[in-house]
Amino acid sequence: MTSQPPSYPYAAPASEAWFERASAVIPGGVNSPVRAFRSVGGTPRFMASATGPYLTDVDGREYVDLVCSWGPMILGHQHPTVLEAVHEASRRGFSYGTPSENEVLLAEAIVNRVEPVEQVRLVSSGTEATMSALRLARGFTGRSVVVKFAGCYHGHVDALLAHAGSGVATFALPDSAGVPASSAGETIVLPYNDVRALEETFARRGDEVAAVITEAAPGNMGMVPPAPGFTAALRRTTREHGALLISDEVMTGFRASAAGWYGLEGPTVHGSPDLFTFGKVMGGGFPAAAFGGRRDVMAHLAPSGPVYQAGTLSGNPVATAAGLATLRGCTPAVYERLEQAAHAIADGVTAELSAVGVAHTIQWAGSMFSVFFREGPVLSYADAQGQDTAAFGRFFHSMLSQGVHLPPSAYECWFVSAAHDDAAVDRVLAALPAAARAASAEDARIGA
Ligand SMILES: *Cc1c(COP(=O)(O)O)cnc(C)c1O
Repeated sequence: MTSQPPSYPYAAPASEAWFERASAVIPGGVNSPVRAFRSVGGTPRFMASATGPYLTDVDGREYVDLVCSWGPMILGHQHPTVLEAVHEASRRGFSYGTPSENEVLLAEAIVNRVEPVEQVRLVSSGTEATMSALRLARGFTGRSVVVKFAGCYHGHVDALLAHAGSGVATFALPDSAGVPASSAGETIVLPYNDVRALEETFARRGDEVAAVITEAAPGNMGMVPPAPGFTAALRRTTREHGALLISDEVMTGFRASAAGWYGLEGPTVHGSPDLFTFGKVMGGGFPAAAFGGRRDVMAHLAPSGPVYQAGTLSGNPVATAAGLATLRGCTPAVYERLEQAAHAIADGVTAELSAVGVAHTIQWAGSMFSVFFREGPVLSYADAQGQDTAAFGRFFHSMLSQGVHLPPSAYECWFVSAAHDDAAVDRVLAALPAAARAASAEDARIGA
């Protein structure tokens, strides 16, 4: 076996040409690392358009989209009411640099859905949301240390790029260059789902800890939901030591359920998180994100309080119109369809991988799931790293060659939308047998 990428059954000449041009003027040819196909090999597809559950690339090839922009496109691409809301908002101007109505409506929509969130501040990316939540927690507590968990990704915030998942997992970087030791030095990284490690850390350094930040149900090392009692242990330990608990729902928010992972797990016996972060779905495909929580904590933000935080495009009227229309469109029927489509696909994956003897396990958080190419259960980042990423790469390319666009990494969730109807799901199911054979390496030729 070599680490050469497999030979592909068809070329993507227009994508290849664009990728070459891109690579001349954009580092690595992409504006976010996981878009490059580094871990699976080959050339990323340049997309020209998207409708419903489908993407069309610059070569004119259509794919069933199982990335959904990494979560935001929960209603499918170009959903008519979101499209209309964006048209309507943009006809009234793109950005005012003043308060505007949609900001209030979107903030209300978030506060109404997630019970412990009393106030939110809107920002433009999940990274900004977690970065600002950390600053607020430090300002509120007057402490500096932050505890995070290995495999949890919270955006590319300096202090949180230690043992992060997502693209960092894909590239197996333990850390990022350019993050000062002083910044990483304020971060304690613990194994996920390990209550003893948490308690030992707090016993030693609890009075220095400003906050514990965790993905509500980690989805950036593949889906690793909290073991029963883990979230409660986080809440109990932080409360006992006067630290805040920040629940990062950028990925799970408004997707795992209408109220995100919180809607599924509810308050723990020791209470709810103090702060939450949101992004992805709440922007409907536009740059919009938020952090929020307890009113007394949020009161520490400028202009009311001493913790500075700002943004030229924060609460942008077009982005908030898209987010608001998306949240309003997330009816119970939408979540029902997400579950149906996700389970139909996951059942197919299990059946076909089992038929050819490929070790795998599928883990869930509501309608969100990921496929690990190893036996389960996967409880931590160390467990996730035990998977057969080469098998995933062969599987990925077979699916791609058959018109199914999966996340190009074994460490990512697969995303469906409410627009994934039976026809789209059937296309995925039809591609699975050959992809499973490719994963098992029984077929030398990918996509056979
Ligand atoms: C995507 C993600 C982020 C970062 O959001 P960006 O908008 O990419 O900056 C933060 N936390 C979690 C859990 C995410 O999934």
